Amino acid sequence: MKEVLHVCSECYPAAKAGGMGDVLGALPAYLPEHGIKATVVIPKYKNKWFGAQVFTNIKTGTFLLGDQEQSFTIQKLVSKDIAFPFYCIDLPGLFDRDSIYLAEDGHGYKDEPKRNIAFQTAVLEWLLVRYELFDVVHVHDHMTGLIPFFLKFCPRYKRLQSIPSILSIHNGAYRGVFVWNEVKSLLPDYAEEYGGIMDWDGEINSLATALKCAWAVNTVSPSYMLELIKDSDTLTPLYESEVTKCSGILNGIDAELWDPSKDEFLDHHLEGSSRKEWLKFKESNKAFLLNKFKLKGDRPLIGFIGRFANQKGADLFMEAIEEGHKQKLNFNSVILGSGDKELEKQVVKLTKEYPDSVGAEIAYNEKLARQIYAGCDFLIMPSRFEPCGLNQLYAMRYGTIPIASKVGGLKDTVIDIDRNGQGIVIETLTSLGLVTAIERAAELFENKKILSKLISKISQMDYSWSNSAKDYATLYLSSLK
Ligand code: ADP
Repeated sequence: MKEVLHVCSECYPAAKAGGMGDVLGALPAYLPEHGIKATVVIPKYKNKWFGAQVFTNIKTGTFLLGDQEQSFTIQKLVSKDIAFPFYCIDLPGLFDRDSIYLAEDGHGYKDEPKRNIAFQTAVLEWLLVRYELFDVVHVHDHMTGLIPFFLKFCPRYKRLQSIPSILSIHNGAYRGVFVWNEVKSLLPDYAEEYGGIMDWDGEINSLATALKCAWAVNTVSPSYMLELIKDSDTLTPLYESEVTKCSGILNGIDAELWDPSKDEFLDHHLEGSSRKEWLKFKESNKAFLLNKFKLKGDRPLIGFIGRFANQKGADLFMEAIEEGHKQKLNFNSVILGSGDKELEKQVVKLTKEYPDSVGAEIAYNEKLARQIYAGCDFLIMPSRFEPCGLNQLYAMRYGTIPIASKVGGLKDTVIDIDRNGQGIVIETLTSLGLVTAIERAAELFENKKILSKLISKISQMDYSWSNSAKDYATLYLSSLK
């Protein structure tokens, strides 16, 4: 069986900040049925999950990081919490923190370049001394984007030179851009004449480096790749020139982990698959949410889960809530997320302004997220761009109708009910456009017969990993030809 190593910064349940964590926690488990053995390596964080696991030390060593010796330990997970071979790298002083990316002020860690380079170097130091080489190295996003270059152009890693690398882009907006003279000394020695490959617009650009050096590049939905090729601001010409190796593979969901009949985060489970049982499941979970947030009943309940970042359009939803109330539209909202401090304040203000129709929690809360997927009638995703989006897939799995903008993966997975689809598409991405979509949702909510039919339809849709895992397996095998 061919072996692929996933190098990344998240993997559920060890560490998750968003969709990438979900993908790396699921895809590797679906690859063996397509003839690929998958192993994952991530940095070792100092969180509750890591604290509760048992690891065995595989290798300890040091490397030069600038003018300092950096020590590292490769550890293999012994406990059975993850269903595929899982390794982490302990890098004292760099990753032994609770948060994956963000410092207390809500911004990225100031030593991000150093962290990223150290992790990537440690991965290669480990691969160098492994008896068996992996057949393919699969890197994810800019955090691991220099690896395809290191593999090819660092004399020290010559033994690894012929291993093909694959880059998956989970979010092309983040690029790992570093200032040359601040970072050059941290890089492992590379053949100087090729150094320019890491450059884009006079800076080290980790994502651009991987785009140039990887054997193949994919985004996590087909439409997102087309969007990047059409317009990635400064990187557009690079996507254009690398277009022949670019493709889109839609993310799946882990149907075992996200199962309304046994989700351990829920108090009320689905007890069968008939319409009646689905209705009971939705009703009891909705009652739970209404009670938790003290909201008035008998109105459509619209959920939002996600980072308060420009990408996700939480600001648009908040404006739409205000506007909708002005227009005397009857609906409840539940918001779960955190990020932009101004938006966090606005959400709290909304809950005070409309205490019986807006509930919110400013947090990252896996349990509440599941309760929202299960208990809402609708889940809104007014994203300005969306590489894939998993929320709409989880929502559908839990019988919740998506209301989504038509970008990236949302375009690929949410078709409007007026076109025989399964969701409400936001035609104009403005707060008024959202109000129109909410009006449509409210109308649909009144028509219980159609609503129940729709719940039945979305709950039967297959977004499992099987198809996409097969596409990745095909990609790996063709890189070996
Ligand atoms: P992202 O761009 O953030 O990666 P995705 O839609 O790909 O967006 O994946 C989001 C994942 O993160 C989903 O599993 C979603 O449930 C989860 N998530 C996002 N925000 C929160 C939150 N505040 N609390 C709990 N889970 C969250």
